[in-house]
Amino acid sequence: MSLFDLKGRVALVTGGNGGIGLGMAKGMAAAGASIAIAGRNKEKGAAAIAAIKALGVDADFVEIDVLQEASCKQGVDQVVKRFGRLDILVNNAGTTVRKQPQDITTAEWNLVLTTNLTAAFQCSQAAYPHMLKAKGGKIVNIGSMLSIFGAPYAAPYGSSKGGIVQMSRALATAWAKDNIQVNSILPGWIDTELTKKARVEVPGLNERVLARTPAGRWGSPDDFAGIAVFLASQASDFVTGAAIPVDGGYSIS
Ligand code: NDP
Repeated sequence: MSLFDLKGRVALVTGGNGGIGLGMAKGMAAAGASIAIAGRNKEKGAAAIAAIKALGVDADFVEIDVLQEASCKQGVDQVVKRFGRLDILVNNAGTTVRKQPQDITTAEWNLVLTTNLTAAFQCSQAAYPHMLKAKGGKIVNIGSMLSIFGAPYAAPYGSSKGGIVQMSRALATAWAKDNIQVNSILPGWIDTELTKKARVEVPGLNERVLARTPAGRWGSPDDFAGIAVFLASQASDFVTGAAIPVDGGYSIS
C-alpha cells in the first residue's frame, strides 16, 4: 500500500464547498478518500460534490453552520451515520472582518473567533470519539500568515489564527496517545472568494503580495491538494503539532 493511499478513509472538510477547502478535498479524493463537505451554501455544496464525485469516490454534503454550537456535533454524527466512520477532519471554515482594532464591535470579534477557532475546537471534540473508535485519526487545522505576523486590519482574524496553532499543539499533545495527529497549515496569499474582497478592501495588497512572494504569484486552491494528502495519510504518522506554511515562500522572505 502506498504511504499516501487514502482508500477506505473518510474525510470531513468544513467550508469545503469552495476555495482552499475544496482544493484539499479534491486532493484527498484523488488519493481515494470518501469525502463529506460541510458548509452553509447548498448550491456551492452541490457543485463541489459533483467535482469530487467525478474523481470516482463517494461524497456528500452536510449542512453545518459552525456558528451554531450544536451544529459541529450534529454534522460530525451525521457524517459517521452516512459513511460509517470518520478518519480525517479538516477545520477549514473561516471568515474575517477587516477593520482597525478600535472600530471592531464585540459581535464582529465573536463572529470571527467563533467561526475560525471555537468551531474548530468543537468539531475536533465531536470527532474525537469516532477517531478513538477507528484507532487513530488526522486533524488538519487551517491557520494563516496572520498566525505568525501582525496586521492592523486583522485583530480578530490574527487572534483566531494564532490561537489555531496553539490549539493544534494542545490537541496534538493530548491525543498522541490515541494515534491522532493534529497539525496546522499556514496558507500564504491564495486566490479565493475571501481574498478577492481583500484585494478591493486593502489598497496595494495585490502588488505587495506579488513583490514579497518568492514564487511570484498568488496561490491557488489546487496548491493544497498535496499537503492535505500528506497530513491525512500514513506518510505523516510521526508529524504532529506542526504548523506548515504553504505560501510560495512568503513567510521566509
Ligand atoms: P472561502 O471564502 O472560499 O472559504 C471559506 C469557507 O468557509 C466557505 O466555503 C464557507 O462556506 C465556510 N464558512 C464560513 N463561515 C461558515 C459557517 N458559519 N459555517 C459553515 N461554513 C462556513 O475562502 P478560503 O478558501 O480562502 O478560506 C478557507 C480557509 O483558509 C479559511 O479558514 C481562511 O481563513 C484560510 N486562509 C485563507 C487564505 C487566503 O489567502 N485565501 C490565507 C490564509 C488562510 P459557506 O459559503 O457555505 O458559508
